[in-house]
Amino acid sequence: MNIAIIGTGYVGLVTGTCLAESGNNVICVDIDEAKISRLREGIIPIYEPGLEELVRRNIREERLAFTTDLAEGVRKARIIFIAVGTPQSENGSADLRTVFAVAKSLAAAIETPKIVVVKSTVPVGTNCKVAEILKASTCRVDVASNPEFLKEGAAIDDFTKPDRVVVGVREASVAEELHDLYRPFLRTERPFLVMSPESSEMTKYVANAMLATKISFINEMANLCEAVEADINDVRRGIGHDERIGFQFLFPGAGYGGSCFPKDIRAVIHMARETGQPSLLMGAVDEVNERQKCVLFNKLRRHFGDSLSGKTIAIWGLAFKPRTDDIREAPALALIRDLLEIGCKIRVHDPEAMPNVRAIYGSDIEYTTKPMDAIQGSNALVICTEWQEFRNPDFSLLFEKLSDKVILDGRNLYKPATVTSAGLIYHSIGRSIATPDSK
Ligand code: NAD
Repeated sequence: MNIAIIGTGYVGLVTGTCLAESGNNVICVDIDEAKISRLREGIIPIYEPGLEELVRRNIREERLAFTTDLAEGVRKARIIFIAVGTPQSENGSADLRTVFAVAKSLAAAIETPKIVVVKSTVPVGTNCKVAEILKASTCRVDVASNPEFLKEGAAIDDFTKPDRVVVGVREASVAEELHDLYRPFLRTERPFLVMSPESSEMTKYVANAMLATKISFINEMANLCEAVEADINDVRRGIGHDERIGFQFLFPGAGYGGSCFPKDIRAVIHMARETGQPSLLMGAVDEVNERQKCVLFNKLRRHFGDSLSGKTIAIWGLAFKPRTDDIREAPALALIRDLLEIGCKIRVHDPEAMPNVRAIYGSDIEYTTKPMDAIQGSNALVICTEWQEFRNPDFSLLFEKLSDKVILDGRNLYKPATVTSAGLIYHSIGRSIATPDSK
């Protein structure tokens, strides 16, 4: 099958590469010329485990190509995926300008019958509008919704072994063609779910709304645990064994970030407002999360009082989650902003995300190639992202190097007793402050 992907970001590149890997001929289109010329050489613009190797193999085997020329890119394609960004616009809704601009370009370029698949996350009714725009084409164009559920950091596994594939169509025959395309990834009886485009569009938002709700819920409960001297880790275990609740997505932390949850929750809030039925719950999920992003700064302020200004703070982890270089809406950015505002010095380490942070903060903060180099000369260590390499540090070295002997852990990586037995003070989320002399 000949496939074109419009928008070669996290979703477009993973989709295109995995479809090429399953034997299709894929052309990925993007407006970013620098990105496309690097991709042609097999250099991928993002950090995503395993992706570079797959891109290179499929380029070599001539199943994967890249272009900035949309008309040329889609000429031979039977199925065209739109995977451009849908960022948050000023009123909170999803900004669909790029989706519609691409649809208009497609309407002008298409010369043979096509299926245009909207993979970008878009509000209900968008597929309908895209279909309307594509009516200007000279040939038959069917439009289908096919939201993407991959997670950055595990994107290839998620795409090739999906829990389910959702498509929204008006014609059963379109669903059949898409089913054939996805069949190689559904061999373990994972479901291919066919519904209306409206339900399919909504499914993506409802999935993210549920997941974000779980995070804000456990974060609010963690803060309550702290206030009443309960331990959220014990409470997690206490509730998680209840099969109706489970353990997934119930880890307390410093708030969710990334390119999806924040903007998708705000898009749901906007959608609900537009229907005249404001979403009280999603408003609270967003508000709790914004407050949670300040939790580490507030703990630092409580610990150091007025003397926090002028201190040097080490930060481990900048990406919004491990195994990605994506820093969009990352809690670490909120912390950096607040610390710089009161005159702190900041020394950071992240295995992958430092170039992206440097593009924002330049030389306002210091970047270190090793985690322990960030500690040198710092008063306190704050952990924002749970990269594996932060899980077993040499606590005696941390004790030696941190002038104020304090760790603030936004991801609850350590057992309090392990940290305090090295002589360090340990703040975490939803647990009491642990000090070397506490029992
Ligand atoms: P991204 O910003 O990484 O990539 C978008 C790409 O589109 C960029 O490379 C950009 O240069 C390109 N582009 C912009 N205008 C274009 C045009 N006119 N023609 C061709 N290319 C153009 O975005 P992303 O993270 O891949 O997200 C894409 C969509 O998928 C969004 O709607 C997002 O909500 C959704 N989504 C993202 C994830 C994720 O984890 N990143 C997961 C599921 C769904």
